[in-house]
Amino acid sequence: MKTALITGITGQDGAYLARFLLGRGYRVHGLLRRSASADVIGERLRWLGIEREVEMVDADLVDLSSILRAVQVTQPDEVYNLAAQSFVKTSWTQPLLTGQVTGLGAVNMLEAVRLAAPQARFYQASSSEMYGLIQAPIQNETTPFYPRSPYAAAKLYAHWMTVNYRESFGMHASSGILFNHESPLRGIEFVTRKITDGVARIKLGLAKTLALGNLDARRDWGHAADYVRAMWLMMQQETPADYVVATGRTTSVREFCRLAFAHAGLDWEAHVTVDPAFLRPAEVDVLQGDASRARERLGWEPEITLERMVAEMVDADLERLRRRGS
Ligand code: NDP
Ligand code: GDP
Repeated sequence: MKTALITGITGQDGAYLARFLLGRGYRVHGLLRRSASADVIGERLRWLGIEREVEMVDADLVDLSSILRAVQVTQPDEVYNLAAQSFVKTSWTQPLLTGQVTGLGAVNMLEAVRLAAPQARFYQASSSEMYGLIQAPIQNETTPFYPRSPYAAAKLYAHWMTVNYRESFGMHASSGILFNHESPLRGIEFVTRKITDGVARIKLGLAKTLALGNLDARRDWGHAADYVRAMWLMMQQETPADYVVATGRTTSVREFCRLAFAHAGLDWEAHVTVDPAFLRPAEVDVLQGDASRARERLGWEPEITLERMVAEMVDADLERLRRRGS
């Protein structure tokens, strides 16, 4: 039986990855940071029905001693570093925290693995945000990076440190440059989930309008369940490497709105307003990934279309609100 250690297991990807690995017979450990809201933390694992199957270990990414202990105690075969301050907009108001968790936190993990489980394979959650002000219309592993936020700059540091540990110490360290991926378990502050939650509220008469920022922004949106499969495939390769994971299709926020409202039988233009409060100091206008390497070397293909994902997210938010009633 293989053992995995997932940081960020309480987040969207951590929950889907835990389910995926449990389904393959793994013993799954997850990092849990201390919180006064312990009763609500783990909601995503509960949603997937696996909260009792994962084993939690108490640690925080910024506390090297706790991370080292977690790696020592669990002795994982595979380490997935998914923990981060992951919301781009917050990274302008909390740039130092973002640097500490998203940037240096990854180095804490690399150090802990190098010292306590050097044979373990390591996955770093890199991001398409690193392309930022895009240097090529379609981005692949050779496209130069141009980060546009403190989040992206922190991710870029973590990315290069992962490459460096691979080259310096021969670690089996791979970095997945994942384009945006969503699901019913996406954080409510991200635009897709904000939209599907807004659609559900309007449909149920709990709200009349939905205020958004830049409707022209375009993203290459995939489904988290497809993307965690790519993470695992990277860990099964004999040789570590970096991989772009993307659908190859780019869609505007405006078009996402149209699809989500239409799924509930609503006209988006009657409800969506623009509020400058949701604009960003510097924007990533458009992202579109080329996942040829993942396709060729990993045999990876996304299976869930944008339309199917939008429908799943709207239906899940309708169901959640009907149950909760607010
Ligand atoms: P989430 O924001 O849903 O999850 C983040 C996780 O990190 C949570 O489990 C959170 O714990 C944990 N965390 C935050 N700070 C700390 C800390 N100091 N110590 C320990 N754990 C901490 O992110 P996603 O699941 O969406 O993304 C997973 C990873 O992939 C992230 O690194 C993200 O930046 C990256 N990524 C995501 C993309 C996407 O589109 N989803 C695209 C590309 C990269 P808690 O529940 O306690 O807050
Ligand atoms: P990101 O790509 O990691 O920043 O993911 P987000 O879902 O937070 O944002 C995707 C795009 O949607 C960005 O270009 C945002 O500027 C744009 N956007 C437009 N309106 C909103 C909004 O109300 N909230 C968020 N989070 N993003 C918005």
